[in-house]
Amino acid sequence: MNLAHTSLRQLAAALRAKTLSSRELAQSYLDRIARMDPQLNSFITLDAPRTLAAADAADVRIAQGDTGPLTGIPIAHKDIFCANGWLTTCGSKMLSNFVAPYDAHVIEQFHAAGSPLLGKTNMDEFAMGSSNETSYFGPVKNPWDLAAVPGGSSGGSAAAVAARLTPAATGTDTGGSIRQPASLCGISGIKPTYGRVSRYGMIAYASSLDQGGVLAPSAEDLALVLNTMVGFDARDSTCLERPAEDFTAGLDKPLAGLRIGLPREYFSDGVSADVANAIEAALKEYERLGATRVDISLPNTKLSVPVYYVLAPAEASSNLSRFDGVRYGYRAKDYGDLTDLYERSRAEGFGPEVKRRILTGTYVLSKGYYDAYYLQAQRVRRLILDDFQQAFTRCDVIMGPSSPTVAFNIGEKTSDPIQMYLSDIFTISVNLAGLPGLSIPVGFGAQQRPVGLQLIGDYFSEAHLLNIAHQYQQATDWHAQSPALAKA
Ligand code: GLN
Repeated sequence: MNLAHTSLRQLAAALRAKTLSSRELAQSYLDRIARMDPQLNSFITLDAPRTLAAADAADVRIAQGDTGPLTGIPIAHKDIFCANGWLTTCGSKMLSNFVAPYDAHVIEQFHAAGSPLLGKTNMDEFAMGSSNETSYFGPVKNPWDLAAVPGGSSGGSAAAVAARLTPAATGTDTGGSIRQPASLCGISGIKPTYGRVSRYGMIAYASSLDQGGVLAPSAEDLALVLNTMVGFDARDSTCLERPAEDFTAGLDKPLAGLRIGLPREYFSDGVSADVANAIEAALKEYERLGATRVDISLPNTKLSVPVYYVLAPAEASSNLSRFDGVRYGYRAKDYGDLTDLYERSRAEGFGPEVKRRILTGTYVLSKGYYDAYYLQAQRVRRLILDDFQQAFTRCDVIMGPSSPTVAFNIGEKTSDPIQMYLSDIFTISVNLAGLPGLSIPVGFGAQQRPVGLQLIGDYFSEAHLLNIAHQYQQATDWHAQSPALAKA
Protein backbone atom coordinates (compact mmCIF):
# COMPACT_ATOMS: atom_id res chain seq x y z
CA MET A 1 0.00 0.00 0.00
CA ASN A 2 1.38 3.39 -1.02
CA LEU A 3 0.33 5.20 2.14
CA ALA A 4 0.70 8.73 0.83
CA HIS A 5 -1.68 8.02 -2.05
CA THR A 6 -4.38 6.22 -0.08
CA SER A 7 -7.76 7.79 0.70
CA LEU A 8 -8.83 8.50 4.26
CA ARG A 9 -11.51 5.82 4.08
CA GLN A 10 -8.96 3.19 3.02
CA LEU A 11 -6.47 4.32 5.66
CA ALA A 12 -9.18 4.02 8.32
CA ALA A 13 -10.04 0.51 7.10
CA ALA A 14 -6.37 -0.58 7.25
CA LEU A 15 -6.01 0.82 10.76
CA ARG A 16 -9.17 -0.97 11.90
CA ALA A 17 -7.99 -4.21 10.29
CA LYS A 18 -4.63 -3.70 12.05
CA THR A 19 -2.66 -4.17 8.83
CA LEU A 20 -1.33 -0.68 9.60
CA SER A 21 -0.63 1.09 12.89
CA SER A 22 -1.09 4.77 13.57
CA ARG A 23 2.59 4.97 14.56
CA GLU A 24 3.67 3.53 11.19
CA LEU A 25 1.39 5.91 9.36
CA ALA A 26 2.52 8.97 11.32
CA GLN A 27 6.16 7.98 10.92
CA SER A 28 5.76 7.58 7.17
CA TYR A 29 4.32 11.08 6.87
CA LEU A 30 7.02 12.55 9.13
CA ASP A 31 9.64 10.90 6.90
CA ARG A 32 8.06 12.36 3.76
CA ILE A 33 7.93 15.80 5.35
CA ALA A 34 11.61 15.57 6.37
CA ARG A 35 12.51 14.56 2.84
CA MET A 36 10.35 16.95 0.80
CA ASP A 37 9.37 19.93 2.89
CA PRO A 38 12.76 21.67 2.74
CA GLN A 39 11.78 22.41 -0.89
CA LEU A 40 8.23 23.53 -0.10
CA ASN A 41 8.31 25.21 3.34
CA SER A 42 4.73 24.14 4.01
CA PHE A 43 5.22 23.50 7.75
CA ILE A 44 6.19 26.01 10.44
CA THR A 45 6.33 23.60 13.38
CA LEU A 46 6.88 19.86 13.63
CA ASP A 47 7.21 17.91 16.86
CA ALA A 48 7.75 14.27 15.96
CA PRO A 49 7.88 12.91 19.55
CA ARG A 50 4.54 14.55 20.34
CA THR A 51 2.94 13.32 17.10
CA LEU A 52 4.20 9.78 17.67
CA ALA A 53 2.99 9.78 21.29
CA ALA A 54 -0.47 10.72 20.04
CA ALA A 55 -0.21 7.96 17.41
CA ASP A 56 0.66 5.43 20.13
CA ALA A 57 -2.36 6.57 22.13
CA ALA A 58 -4.50 6.08 19.02
CA ASP A 59 -3.10 2.56 18.59
CA VAL A 60 -4.17 1.76 22.15
CA ARG A 61 -7.68 3.00 21.36
CA ILE A 62 -7.78 0.92 18.19
CA ALA A 63 -6.63 -2.16 20.12
CA GLN A 64 -9.56 -1.58 22.49
CA GLY A 65 -11.98 -1.34 19.58
CA ASP A 66 -12.67 2.33 20.33
CA THR A 67 -12.36 3.70 16.80
CA GLY A 68 -13.99 6.36 14.66
CA PRO A 69 -13.27 7.26 11.04
CA LEU A 70 -10.24 9.43 11.90
CA THR A 71 -8.78 7.45 14.80
CA GLY A 72 -5.06 7.05 14.18
CA ILE A 73 -5.00 9.28 11.09
CA PRO A 74 -2.56 12.18 11.49
CA ILE A 75 -3.75 15.55 10.22
CA ALA A 76 -1.87 18.85 9.83
CA HIS A 77 -3.41 22.04 11.16
CA LYS A 78 -3.08 25.59 9.95
CA ASP A 79 -0.93 27.56 12.37
CA ILE A 80 -3.91 29.79 13.19
CA PHE A 81 -5.42 27.14 15.52
CA CYS A 82 -4.17 27.22 19.11
CA ALA A 83 -2.91 23.78 20.16
CA ASN A 84 -1.90 23.26 23.77
CA GLY A 85 1.88 23.06 24.10
CA TRP A 86 2.49 23.81 20.42
CA LEU A 87 4.09 26.92 19.04
CA THR A 88 1.18 28.81 17.42
CA THR A 89 2.48 31.69 15.30
CA CYS A 90 -0.30 32.68 12.86
CA GLY A 91 2.56 33.26 10.42
CA SER A 92 3.73 36.32 12.34
CA LYS A 93 6.85 37.52 14.13
CA MET A 94 4.36 38.90 16.68
CA LEU A 95 3.55 35.34 17.80
CA SER A 96 6.85 33.72 16.86
CA ASN A 97 7.43 32.81 20.54
CA PHE A 98 3.83 32.00 21.50
CA VAL A 99 3.20 28.50 22.84
CA ALA A 100 -0.57 28.13 23.14
CA PRO A 101 -1.75 27.26 26.66
CA TYR A 102 -5.03 25.71 25.45
CA ASP A 103 -6.65 23.93 22.50
CA ALA A 104 -8.95 25.55 19.95
CA HIS A 105 -12.35 23.83 19.77
CA VAL A 106 -11.33 22.42 16.39
CA ILE A 107 -8.17 20.90 17.89
CA GLU A 108 -10.19 19.43 20.79
CA GLN A 109 -12.49 17.75 18.28
CA PHE A 110 -9.55 16.11 16.47
CA HIS A 111 -8.06 14.98 19.81
CA ALA A 112 -11.39 13.47 20.79
CA ALA A 113 -11.51 11.65 17.44
CA GLY A 114 -8.03 10.20 18.07
CA SER A 115 -6.36 12.03 15.17
CA PRO A 116 -2.70 12.86 15.96
CA LEU A 117 -1.57 16.43 15.21
CA LEU A 118 1.02 16.02 12.44
CA GLY A 119 2.34 19.58 12.42
CA LYS A 120 1.40 23.25 12.07
CA THR A 121 1.26 24.59 8.54
CA ASN A 122 2.62 27.81 7.09
CA MET A 123 0.24 30.66 6.23
CA ASP A 124 0.07 34.33 5.33
CA GLU A 125 0.61 36.55 8.36
CA PHE A 126 -2.65 36.65 10.36
CA ALA A 127 -4.33 35.07 7.28
CA MET A 128 -3.90 38.27 5.28
CA GLY A 129 -2.81 37.35 1.79
CA SER A 130 -3.51 35.27 -1.30
CA SER A 131 -0.07 33.82 -2.01
CA ASN A 132 1.52 32.84 1.31
CA GLU A 133 4.16 35.48 0.67
CA THR A 134 3.31 37.59 3.73
CA SER A 135 4.38 34.83 6.15
CA TYR A 136 7.17 35.77 8.57
CA PHE A 137 8.42 32.20 8.00
CA GLY A 138 8.98 32.67 4.28
CA PRO A 139 6.94 31.81 1.19
CA VAL A 140 5.56 28.35 0.46
CA LYS A 141 6.25 26.83 -2.96
CA ASN A 142 3.54 25.26 -5.12
CA PRO A 143 4.33 21.52 -5.46
CA TRP A 144 3.20 21.57 -9.13
CA ASP A 145 5.78 24.20 -9.99
CA LEU A 146 8.26 25.51 -7.45
CA ALA A 147 8.31 28.92 -9.17
CA ALA A 148 4.59 29.40 -8.44
CA VAL A 149 2.74 30.48 -5.30
CA PRO A 150 0.47 27.92 -3.62
CA GLY A 151 -2.21 30.58 -2.98
CA GLY A 152 -3.15 31.78 0.45
CA SER A 153 -3.68 32.31 3.17
CA SER A 154 -3.89 28.54 3.84
CA GLY A 155 -0.97 28.00 1.43
CA GLY A 156 0.98 25.67 3.71
CA SER A 157 -2.02 23.40 4.21
CA ALA A 158 -2.75 23.33 0.46
CA ALA A 159 0.85 22.62 -0.56
CA ALA A 160 1.22 19.92 2.11
CA VAL A 161 -1.92 18.13 0.90
CA ALA A 162 -0.94 18.49 -2.78
CA ALA A 163 2.50 16.99 -2.08
CA ARG A 164 0.80 14.27 -0.02
CA LEU A 165 2.72 15.28 3.12
CA THR A 166 -0.52 14.91 5.08
CA PRO A 167 -3.75 13.04 4.28
CA ALA A 168 -5.75 16.25 4.92
CA ALA A 169 -5.30 19.61 6.59
CA THR A 170 -7.39 22.26 8.25
CA GLY A 171 -7.57 25.81 6.97
CA THR A 172 -9.55 28.99 7.50
CA ASP A 173 -11.33 31.11 4.94
CA THR A 174 -12.16 34.80 5.44
CA GLY A 175 -12.25 35.81 1.78
CA GLY A 176 -11.12 32.68 -0.06
CA SER A 177 -8.22 31.30 1.94
CA ILE A 178 -9.31 27.66 1.63
CA ARG A 179 -10.85 27.65 -1.86
CA GLN A 180 -8.20 29.74 -3.64
CA PRO A 181 -5.15 27.75 -2.43
CA ALA A 182 -7.04 24.48 -3.01
CA SER A 183 -7.63 25.65 -6.57
CA LEU A 184 -4.03 26.74 -7.17
CA CYS A 185 -2.67 23.48 -5.72
CA GLY A 186 -5.04 21.09 -7.55
CA ILE A 187 -6.83 19.73 -4.48
CA SER A 188 -10.31 19.95 -2.91
CA GLY A 189 -11.25 22.43 -0.18
CA ILE A 190 -14.44 23.38 1.63
CA LYS A 191 -15.46 26.46 3.56
CA PRO A 192 -18.65 25.64 5.49
CA THR A 193 -21.55 27.99 6.23
CA TYR A 194 -20.49 30.74 8.64
CA GLY A 195 -21.07 29.51 12.18
CA ARG A 196 -20.74 25.76 11.59
CA VAL A 197 -17.19 25.52 12.92
CA SER A 198 -16.29 27.13 16.24
CA ARG A 199 -13.88 30.06 16.10
CA TYR A 200 -12.80 29.44 19.71
CA GLY A 201 -9.00 29.29 19.73
CA MET A 202 -8.81 30.18 16.03
CA ILE A 203 -6.79 33.40 15.95
CA ALA A 204 -9.15 36.15 14.81
CA TYR A 205 -8.69 38.15 11.62
CA ALA A 206 -12.18 39.39 10.61
CA SER A 207 -14.62 37.70 12.96
CA SER A 208 -17.80 38.16 10.92
CA LEU A 209 -16.14 36.39 7.95
CA ASP A 210 -13.61 33.89 9.43
CA GLN A 211 -14.59 30.24 9.11
CA GLY A 212 -12.62 27.03 9.58
CA GLY A 213 -12.72 24.28 6.98
CA VAL A 214 -10.80 21.46 5.32
CA LEU A 215 -8.35 20.79 2.46
CA ALA A 216 -7.86 17.25 1.12
CA PRO A 217 -7.45 15.43 -2.20
CA SER A 218 -11.11 14.45 -2.63
CA ALA A 219 -14.62 15.48 -1.64
CA GLU A 220 -15.06 12.18 0.20
CA ASP A 221 -11.99 12.99 2.32
CA LEU A 222 -13.40 16.46 3.00
CA ALA A 223 -16.69 14.97 4.19
CA LEU A 224 -14.93 12.63 6.63
CA VAL A 225 -12.84 15.40 8.14
CA LEU A 226 -15.73 17.87 8.25
CA ASN A 227 -17.70 15.34 10.31
CA THR A 228 -15.08 15.77 13.04
CA MET A 229 -14.65 19.51 12.72
CA VAL A 230 -18.24 20.71 12.79
CA GLY A 231 -19.93 20.92 16.17
CA PHE A 232 -21.58 23.32 18.57
CA ASP A 233 -19.38 25.21 20.99
CA ALA A 234 -20.92 27.69 23.43
CA ARG A 235 -17.60 29.56 23.70
CA ASP A 236 -18.12 31.05 20.23
CA SER A 237 -21.33 33.09 20.35
CA THR A 238 -21.73 32.87 16.57
CA CYS A 239 -21.38 29.07 16.50
CA LEU A 240 -24.68 27.52 15.44
CA GLU A 241 -26.40 24.68 17.25
CA ARG A 242 -27.67 22.25 14.63
CA PRO A 243 -28.63 18.58 14.65
CA ALA A 244 -25.58 16.36 14.01
CA GLU A 245 -25.11 15.59 10.34
CA ASP A 246 -23.09 12.89 8.55
CA PHE A 247 -21.56 14.63 5.54
CA THR A 248 -20.69 11.32 3.91
CA ALA A 249 -24.26 10.00 3.95
CA GLY A 250 -25.48 11.60 0.71
CA LEU A 251 -22.31 11.37 -1.39
CA ASP A 252 -23.67 8.74 -3.77
CA LYS A 253 -26.91 10.44 -4.77
CA PRO A 254 -27.21 10.85 -8.55
CA LEU A 255 -27.26 14.38 -9.96
CA ALA A 256 -30.11 14.04 -12.47
CA GLY A 257 -32.13 17.24 -12.57
CA LEU A 258 -29.53 19.37 -10.77
CA ARG A 259 -29.83 23.03 -11.79
CA ILE A 260 -26.44 24.71 -12.03
CA GLY A 261 -26.51 28.51 -11.89
CA LEU A 262 -23.80 30.21 -13.93
CA PRO A 263 -23.38 33.84 -12.90
CA ARG A 264 -22.55 35.89 -15.94
CA GLU A 265 -20.17 37.99 -13.82
CA TYR A 266 -18.03 34.85 -13.19
CA PHE A 267 -17.49 34.23 -16.89
CA SER A 268 -16.35 37.68 -17.90
CA ASP A 269 -13.21 39.28 -19.29
CA GLY A 270 -11.22 38.93 -16.08
CA VAL A 271 -11.05 35.14 -16.44
CA SER A 272 -8.07 33.82 -18.39
CA ALA A 273 -8.79 31.58 -21.40
CA ASP A 274 -7.07 28.47 -19.99
CA VAL A 275 -9.19 28.66 -16.83
CA ALA A 276 -12.38 29.28 -18.85
CA ASN A 277 -11.69 26.19 -21.02
CA ALA A 278 -11.16 23.86 -18.07
CA ILE A 279 -14.33 25.19 -16.38
CA GLU A 280 -16.34 24.66 -19.59
CA ALA A 281 -15.12 21.06 -19.83
CA ALA A 282 -16.18 20.47 -16.22
CA LEU A 283 -19.64 21.89 -16.92
CA LYS A 284 -20.00 19.52 -19.89
CA GLU A 285 -19.15 16.64 -17.56
CA TYR A 286 -21.88 17.82 -15.19
CA GLU A 287 -24.34 17.85 -18.10
CA ARG A 288 -23.37 14.24 -18.84
CA LEU A 289 -24.20 13.51 -15.19
CA GLY A 290 -27.71 14.88 -15.73
CA ALA A 291 -27.39 18.52 -14.69
CA THR A 292 -28.75 21.51 -16.60
CA ARG A 293 -27.39 25.05 -16.90
CA VAL A 294 -29.26 28.15 -15.78
CA ASP A 295 -27.97 31.64 -16.57
CA ILE A 296 -28.04 33.84 -13.51
CA SER A 297 -26.61 37.16 -12.42
CA LEU A 298 -24.90 38.28 -9.23
CA PRO A 299 -24.84 41.97 -10.16
CA ASN A 300 -22.93 43.21 -7.12
CA THR A 301 -19.96 40.85 -7.59
CA LYS A 302 -17.62 43.67 -8.57
CA LEU A 303 -18.36 45.45 -5.29
CA SER A 304 -17.32 42.48 -3.17
CA VAL A 305 -13.60 43.24 -3.17
CA PRO A 306 -13.97 46.93 -2.16
CA VAL A 307 -16.57 46.01 0.47
CA TYR A 308 -14.33 43.30 1.88
CA TYR A 309 -11.34 45.65 2.04
CA VAL A 310 -13.36 48.03 4.20
CA LEU A 311 -15.01 45.49 6.51
CA ALA A 312 -12.19 42.97 6.99
CA PRO A 313 -9.55 45.60 7.88
CA ALA A 314 -12.06 47.32 10.20
CA GLU A 315 -12.53 44.09 12.12
CA ALA A 316 -8.82 43.29 11.95
CA SER A 317 -7.83 46.68 13.39
CA SER A 318 -9.94 45.86 16.43
CA ASN A 319 -8.95 42.19 16.71
CA LEU A 320 -5.22 42.86 16.40
CA SER A 321 -5.20 45.56 19.08
CA ARG A 322 -4.66 42.76 21.62
CA PHE A 323 -1.09 42.32 20.40
CA ASP A 324 0.55 45.00 22.47
CA GLY A 325 3.81 43.44 23.64
CA VAL A 326 2.50 43.15 27.19
CA ARG A 327 0.40 40.05 27.64
CA TYR A 328 1.97 37.62 25.22
CA GLY A 329 3.89 37.45 21.98
CA TYR A 330 6.72 39.63 20.76
CA ARG A 331 8.05 42.50 22.90
CA ALA A 332 10.54 45.08 21.65
CA LYS A 333 13.84 45.05 23.52
CA ASP A 334 14.57 48.73 24.00
CA TYR A 335 11.69 50.95 25.01
CA GLY A 336 11.04 54.01 27.14
CA ASP A 337 7.53 54.41 28.56
CA LEU A 338 4.44 52.23 28.07
CA THR A 339 3.35 53.94 24.85
CA ASP A 340 6.84 53.44 23.45
CA LEU A 341 6.63 49.74 24.38
CA TYR A 342 3.34 49.39 22.47
CA GLU A 343 4.60 51.30 19.47
CA ARG A 344 7.91 49.51 19.12
CA SER A 345 6.48 46.05 19.75
CA ARG A 346 3.80 46.55 17.11
CA ALA A 347 6.13 48.28 14.66
CA GLU A 348 8.66 45.44 14.92
CA GLY A 349 6.21 42.54 15.35
CA PHE A 350 3.82 43.10 12.42
CA GLY A 351 4.73 42.83 8.74
CA PRO A 352 3.81 45.41 6.06
CA GLU A 353 0.52 43.83 4.87
CA VAL A 354 -0.80 43.57 8.43
CA LYS A 355 0.14 47.19 9.09
CA ARG A 356 -1.54 48.29 5.86
CA ARG A 357 -4.77 46.66 7.00
CA ILE A 358 -4.64 47.98 10.57
CA LEU A 359 -4.20 51.49 9.14
CA THR A 360 -7.03 51.05 6.62
CA GLY A 361 -9.33 49.59 9.26
CA THR A 362 -8.60 52.33 11.78
CA TYR A 363 -9.25 54.93 9.09
CA VAL A 364 -12.63 53.55 7.96
CA LEU A 365 -13.82 53.34 11.55
CA SER A 366 -12.73 56.85 12.50
CA LYS A 367 -15.19 59.66 13.23
CA GLY A 368 -16.20 61.39 10.05
CA TYR A 369 -15.45 58.37 7.83
CA TYR A 370 -17.45 55.69 9.59
CA ASP A 371 -20.72 56.45 7.77
CA ALA A 372 -19.09 56.92 4.38
CA TYR A 373 -17.06 53.72 4.45
CA TYR A 374 -17.97 51.24 7.15
CA LEU A 375 -21.76 51.73 7.19
CA GLN A 376 -21.93 52.00 3.42
CA ALA A 377 -19.97 48.74 3.07
CA GLN A 378 -22.38 47.02 5.48
CA ARG A 379 -25.28 48.10 3.26
CA VAL A 380 -23.62 46.73 0.13
CA ARG A 381 -22.84 43.51 2.01
CA ARG A 382 -26.60 43.10 2.41
CA LEU A 383 -27.14 43.61 -1.35
CA ILE A 384 -24.53 40.93 -2.11
CA LEU A 385 -26.36 38.53 0.19
CA ASP A 386 -29.69 39.37 -1.48
CA ASP A 387 -28.16 38.61 -4.92
CA PHE A 388 -27.41 35.06 -3.78
CA GLN A 389 -30.85 34.56 -2.24
CA GLN A 390 -32.40 35.69 -5.50
CA ALA A 391 -30.17 33.31 -7.46
CA PHE A 392 -31.06 30.30 -5.30
CA THR A 393 -34.73 30.65 -6.27
CA ARG A 394 -33.62 29.58 -9.78
CA CYS A 395 -30.81 27.07 -9.22
CA ASP A 396 -29.58 24.47 -6.72
CA VAL A 397 -25.87 25.29 -6.87
CA ILE A 398 -23.77 28.08 -8.35
CA MET A 399 -20.62 27.25 -10.29
CA GLY A 400 -17.71 29.21 -11.71
CA PRO A 401 -13.93 29.46 -11.46
CA SER A 402 -12.45 29.56 -7.94
CA SER A 403 -9.75 31.93 -9.17
CA PRO A 404 -9.53 33.99 -12.38
CA THR A 405 -6.07 32.58 -13.24
CA VAL A 406 -3.89 29.61 -12.44
CA ALA A 407 -1.14 30.07 -9.84
CA PHE A 408 1.03 33.12 -10.51
CA ASN A 409 4.77 33.26 -9.91
CA ILE A 410 6.34 33.99 -6.55
CA GLY A 411 7.09 37.72 -6.48
CA GLU A 412 4.78 38.52 -9.41
CA LYS A 413 2.14 40.46 -7.45
CA THR A 414 3.91 41.46 -4.25
CA SER A 415 4.49 45.07 -5.33
CA ASP A 416 0.83 45.59 -6.31
CA PRO A 417 -1.61 44.90 -3.44
CA ILE A 418 -4.68 45.69 -5.57
CA GLN A 419 -3.75 43.02 -8.14
CA MET A 420 -3.23 40.59 -5.28
CA TYR A 421 -6.64 41.50 -3.77
CA LEU A 422 -8.37 40.84 -7.11
CA SER A 423 -7.32 37.20 -7.13
CA ASP A 424 -10.16 36.63 -4.62
CA ILE A 425 -12.86 38.27 -6.76
CA PHE A 426 -14.91 35.03 -7.00
CA THR A 427 -14.50 33.82 -3.45
CA ILE A 428 -14.96 36.93 -1.27
CA SER A 429 -18.69 37.45 -1.86
CA VAL A 430 -19.36 33.96 -0.48
CA ASN A 431 -17.84 34.99 2.86
CA LEU A 432 -19.72 38.30 2.85
CA ALA A 433 -22.95 36.30 2.46
CA GLY A 434 -21.86 33.60 4.97
CA LEU A 435 -22.54 30.80 2.45
CA PRO A 436 -20.70 27.48 2.05
CA GLY A 437 -18.26 27.11 -0.85
CA LEU A 438 -16.14 24.31 -2.22
CA SER A 439 -13.32 24.12 -4.77
CA ILE A 440 -12.40 20.99 -6.74
CA PRO A 441 -9.64 20.42 -9.30
CA VAL A 442 -10.96 20.19 -12.87
CA GLY A 443 -7.85 20.25 -15.07
CA PHE A 444 -4.78 22.23 -15.95
CA GLY A 445 -4.13 25.58 -17.55
CA ALA A 446 -1.04 27.52 -18.59
CA GLN A 447 2.28 25.87 -17.65
CA GLN A 448 0.40 22.77 -16.49
CA ARG A 449 -0.80 24.58 -13.36
CA PRO A 450 -4.11 23.38 -11.81
CA VAL A 451 -7.56 24.94 -12.34
CA GLY A 452 -10.28 24.80 -9.68
CA LEU A 453 -14.07 24.88 -10.05
CA GLN A 454 -15.98 26.63 -7.30
CA LEU A 455 -19.35 25.29 -6.08
CA ILE A 456 -21.45 27.67 -3.98
CA GLY A 457 -24.54 26.45 -2.12
CA ASP A 458 -27.29 27.93 0.01
CA TYR A 459 -26.90 27.97 3.81
CA PHE A 460 -26.21 24.54 5.35
CA SER A 461 -25.96 22.79 1.98
CA GLU A 462 -22.46 21.36 2.71
CA ALA A 463 -23.68 17.78 2.32
CA HIS A 464 -25.21 18.59 -1.05
CA LEU A 465 -22.07 20.43 -2.25
CA LEU A 466 -19.95 17.44 -1.24
CA ASN A 467 -22.34 15.11 -3.08
CA ILE A 468 -22.11 17.26 -6.24
CA ALA A 469 -18.31 17.30 -6.01
CA HIS A 470 -18.08 13.57 -5.26
CA GLN A 471 -20.21 12.60 -8.26
CA TYR A 472 -17.87 14.56 -10.52
CA GLN A 473 -14.88 12.86 -8.90
CA GLN A 474 -16.44 9.43 -9.47
CA ALA A 475 -16.62 10.26 -13.19
CA THR A 476 -13.18 11.92 -13.57
CA ASP A 477 -9.74 11.57 -12.01
CA TRP A 478 -8.36 15.12 -11.68
CA HIS A 479 -8.51 14.82 -7.89
CA ALA A 480 -6.37 11.68 -8.00
CA GLN A 481 -3.54 13.40 -9.87
CA SER A 482 -0.57 14.59 -7.89
CA PRO A 483 2.55 16.55 -8.81
CA ALA A 484 5.70 14.69 -9.90
CA LEU A 485 7.35 15.75 -6.66
CA ALA A 486 4.71 13.87 -4.64
CA LYS A 487 5.42 10.59 -6.44
CA ALA A 488 9.01 10.45 -5.20
N1 GLN B 1 -6.81 36.80 0.30
C1 GLN B 1 -7.78 37.44 1.16
C2 GLN B 1 -7.08 38.43 2.04
O1 GLN B 1 -5.98 38.71 1.77
C3 GLN B 1 -8.52 36.42 1.97
C4 GLN B 1 -7.71 35.87 3.06
C5 GLN B 1 -8.46 34.89 3.89
O2 GLN B 1 -9.45 34.29 3.46
N2 GLN B 1 -7.99 34.71 5.11
O3 GLN B 1 -7.59 38.92 2.99
